[in-house]
Amino acid sequence: MNIILLGPPGAGKGTQAKILERERKMVQLSTGDMLRAAVASGSEIGKKAKAVMDAGQLVSDEIVIGVVADRMDQPDVAGGVIFDGFPRTTAQAQALDKLLNEKGKSLDAVVEMRVDDEALVDRVSGRFTCAKCGEGFHDRHKRPKEDGVCDICGGLEFKRRQDDNADTVRSRLTAYHEQTAPLIAHYSAQGKLRTIDGMADIHEVTRQLAAALDG
Ligand code: AMP
Repeated sequence: MNIILLGPPGAGKGTQAKILERERKMVQLSTGDMLRAAVASGSEIGKKAKAVMDAGQLVSDEIVIGVVADRMDQPDVAGGVIFDGFPRTTAQAQALDKLLNEKGKSLDAVVEMRVDDEALVDRVSGRFTCAKCGEGFHDRHKRPKEDGVCDICGGLEFKRRQDDNADTVRSRLTAYHEQTAPLIAHYSAQGKLRTIDGMADIHEVTRQLAAALDG
């Protein structure tokens, strides 16, 4: 099964993608994670992407589509992919349709996670992840059960994203509304769109997501 989680920054796409990875034989493909890895490695792609990401704007379609096409050549995608943060523009959506088609695969569902803009700034500005396994946490909404220890892997180091500050979040929200939200109509026209309530608590969102995928 190949699915897209569609929603603004802070909607919970990464959190739900990680839960799906654990529960089903699917892999998370997060273009944000891949671009951050490119920045950290100092590669040519990373150098081009860094300033754009720090400003909360979108990296060029050409770069992002190239990164996704390379990732889709790896064998572990065979069991299904959860696209997280991709596609973000109509050009990316068209490139994904073409890529899947060429590989004899298809898109099973696009799940829109709907969240109020006001809630997003609060959610994004308090979040952090385990440096070892990538599990997401939040200062107010999802603290580790034991302070300073990852619930999932026992890791002791955590990191915060540079672009998770109130100013950059507002730019990222603008980019979402202007460039990504039109994809809702695109996938609705294909009959693939399901909408769930991203404002609910994590377990309820997981339940709604499962119902949207299996129902
Ligand atoms: P994310 O981790 O999905 O919030 O992405 C972090 C940043 O990476 C975004 O604000 C963009 O600058 C960049 N980015 C991630 N995915 C894409 C994409 N599909 N298209 C363009 N830029 C992206």
